[in-house]
Amino acid sequence: MAVGSLTLLCALIQNGWAQLPPVPNAPDIVNPATHQNGAEPLSQNETHPNAKRLASQVALALTTYSQTETAEQIARRLDFAGSEAKGLAATFHIPGAWSKGRIIYPQLGGLGASAASVMVVVEQMVGTSEGIRVFIRTLDVRLALSDGIWRFADLASIGGTLITEPAPPSPQALAVLNDPRIEMPDSARWDILSGSISQNLLAVMARLAERFPFGVVTLSQGHPYEVFGTDRQSDHTRGRAVDIYRLGDTLVIDGRTDGSAVHQTVQWLYQQPEIRQIGSPWALDGVGGKSFTDRLHQDHLHIAVAQ
Ligand SMILES: [Zn+2]
Repeated sequence: MAVGSLTLLCALIQNGWAQLPPVPNAPDIVNPATHQNGAEPLSQNETHPNAKRLASQVALALTTYSQTETAEQIARRLDFAGSEAKGLAATFHIPGAWSKGRIIYPQLGGLGASAASVMVVVEQMVGTSEGIRVFIRTLDVRLALSDGIWRFADLASIGGTLITEPAPPSPQALAVLNDPRIEMPDSARWDILSGSISQNLLAVMARLAERFPFGVVTLSQGHPYEVFGTDRQSDHTRGRAVDIYRLGDTLVIDGRTDGSAVHQTVQWLYQQPEIRQIGSPWALDGVGGKSFTDRLHQDHLHIAVAQ
């Protein structure tokens, strides 16, 4: 690809298709998800900015390299995150290709007294002699807190792999996959294409899109297998839950005032018959109810269905 085309492509990705005139012969490689507020800079309302920043920096270092760079050189750039991170340098490295990472959003996946999961949605644009491809994955980045400082501990999930032979999609799956109002990482698309996501959950997602465009961080892959810090299998692992980080252009972390659109949406979700549990900045029905809140559920809506 010519440098001019690449510059144009980058401009398109940063600015969105809609704001630019049609481009003849534009390569059909841009993911339909639009970029939202992103992680840089982080919202001032974030509750754990240092953890999110570190997890995002690791994700960017793993997905950003030049055509001539080797895994050893990537490892040296990961010095800041310690030896555990350096050992992962080759995870997203394709020898002879260039790669550029971009953070879509880092959401908390679990919080313990001295440990955390940050689910980083990262876009990786890869250029080879055959062209450019874009993958958007949800990475489960584990951190540990020592002496008041977050440190990298583990990459617990790379958010799955490309589905080459999808199961025949249901009407509900097609409705969600094709809805331009639903921004999803490829990790979530692969979950749907593998046939592992609840039809009831897909139906709720399609109805929610009628109210607001929204952004998904995870369905299943990329989320901790168990509810963080417990031995209980997560509803995400069963394909029965979705985490949403934005409604329209408003991040959940920025929409935590009573009466906000986010608050009203939680009230609407509460009325939907398929829903078993909603985690959000609010507990609508007190302790032990269907709607719950805690310090983890400040930056996203966790929506789980019964089956
Ligand atoms: Zn969740």
